[in-house]
Amino acid sequence: RALNFSAGPAALPLPVLEKAQKEFVNYQGTGMSIMEMSHRGKHYDAVHSGAKARLKNLMNVPDTHEILFLQGGASLQFSMVPINFLKKNETAGYILTGSWSEKALKEAEKIGKTKVIASSKESLYRSIPSRSEWGDEKDLAYLHITSNNTIYGTQWHEFPDTNVPLVADMSSDILSRPVDTGKFGLIYAGAQKNLGPSGVTVIIANKQWLSQSTNSLSKFLDYNTHASADSLYNTPPTFAIYMLGLVLEWAEEQGGTEGLERKNKEKSALLYDSIESSEGFYRGHALNGSGSHMNVTFTLPDQDLEKDFLAKASEHGFIGLNGHRSIGGCRASIYNAVPYEACEKLAEFMNSYRKNHSA
Ligand code: PLP
Repeated sequence: RALNFSAGPAALPLPVLEKAQKEFVNYQGTGMSIMEMSHRGKHYDAVHSGAKARLKNLMNVPDTHEILFLQGGASLQFSMVPINFLKKNETAGYILTGSWSEKALKEAEKIGKTKVIASSKESLYRSIPSRSEWGDEKDLAYLHITSNNTIYGTQWHEFPDTNVPLVADMSSDILSRPVDTGKFGLIYAGAQKNLGPSGVTVIIANKQWLSQSTNSLSKFLDYNTHASADSLYNTPPTFAIYMLGLVLEWAEEQGGTEGLERKNKEKSALLYDSIESSEGFYRGHALNGSGSHMNVTFTLPDQDLEKDFLAKASEHGFIGLNGHRSIGGCRASIYNAVPYEACEKLAEFMNSYRKNHSA
């Protein structure tokens, strides 16, 4: 297997791919692939409800909350959230911790009034703003945060208590740790990092809040359309949901979110140790306490060295270590499916590269 550190679409667990391969042409002796079957038939129905039940169990989703499988990626959620929940004369609050939260805010601005409650933009998104840096969040229609900042490599390690519905874009760290799901008005995540291939977007939302949606713009963009049809209002991305089910089965075998969190912390510690022990050769982008366990971002002393590091890393089989095109530098994305051994190899490579190149 390639040493795949891509930010997304990202590595999938090998046993998941192998099981999908085995069943690909002939699903459970039917002579058909799961992707060739009706989304209203009994085989797909078991896949659909199985994935939902597994996610509910793994993420401890309370009965007060609904799970939806939609399409359009996390990007469509940037619009769907305000379309459903930002009423006239109301204001939605956004906490800016990176480019994805900026994008979410921009879409909300098209729908209604918004307010930036806190932002770490001035310090180059190196940290998550602490509570003391927040503006007034009372009376907001909702407060939107991005739980993990894929590009900058920062992460909320604790979720805030707030009296308004909390909305989180969890695209790049969903299922990486236990989360008190019931505390959120709505969680959304594109699948292509921790949940499976791209094509399905997972929503977990408070049912009571959903019932207050005032969207009249479009039936399809109304969460309730999908909630009342069990995400089968139209043809769902059946193959992506089948793959999601396999990933969730694998996640259970890893000890659920507790087991995954333990492993993710061990993996990120290997890389952060390489950075911290490098005497300034590698510089982590995130400030202490805000570093992500999913995306470890760092720079080298200058751009020539960075280019050389990335080229040598590629020669050694490491894939996807370049930082996002908007900020450059290096980024190791170490989602759930990236094995500990791959992180060990990368840490060793970083240590030996530094020994050979530091002044
Ligand atoms: N939000 C975050 C935190 C992301 O990392 C990404 C993609 O990398 C997106 C949103 C956009 O997701 P999608 O491509 O599913 O629209």
